[in-house]
Amino acid sequence: MHVITVAKEIVLVGRSNVGKSTLFKQLTGKKVRVGRRPGITRKPYKAKFGNVLLVDMPGFGFMKNLSKVAQKRNKESIVEYFENKKEDILLVVQVIDAASFIDIVQRWESRDEIPSELELYEFLSDLGLDVIVAANKMDRIANPEETLDQIVEKLGMLPPWRQWLDRVAPISAKKGEIESLRNILRECL
Ligand code: GDP
Repeated sequence: MHVITVAKEIVLVGRSNVGKSTLFKQLTGKKVRVGRRPGITRKPYKAKFGNVLLVDMPGFGFMKNLSKVAQKRNKESIVEYFENKKEDILLVVQVIDAASFIDIVQRWESRDEIPSELELYEFLSDLGLDVIVAANKMDRIANPEETLDQIVEKLGMLPPWRQWLDRVAPISAKKGEIESLRNILRECL
């Protein structure tokens, strides 16, 4: 009898443009193929990472080049992916652009809408998945401690953010400064 073993996954997820592909390349050495045609949603892209798979999900939420219908379909397929694969997912890394996160969240809240990144974080946590927040683009932030405190608070964690060093990893993917995230991933593997 053959026993089929399914590789466990670490999944990167977040809005488009937060730096997921840049981070994916730093971690795996592999460049994510980016679909350039508008309206075409990308499939999850996978590469080996140690003895697990690292998965780069398509961007979640608003995307300039996608129609409303395509955006809805995109969101549904991401939600379905997590629901169907949750048993195989070791860890989710939700990547945010720390430089614009608070502004975007406040803009949505002022319109009485639930910010899509908070919605995503809650959805993943409610599914019972372990979610790490990779606060990217830290190189663009003048007051990192204060910004990170605001970010964890929005996500429902009590500041100071340093209480959450096993959950929150400030990084700069573009500069290759991702040690805090590597440490968390190492612990998990
Ligand atoms: P994705 O859409 O989430 O996959 O985002 P990309 O990896 O394509 O990155 C979007 C843009 O953000 C690109 O112009 C990157 O060079 C830039 N970027 C990614 N990481 C960083 C970072 O740590 N700092 C800064 N300043 N820019 C970054």
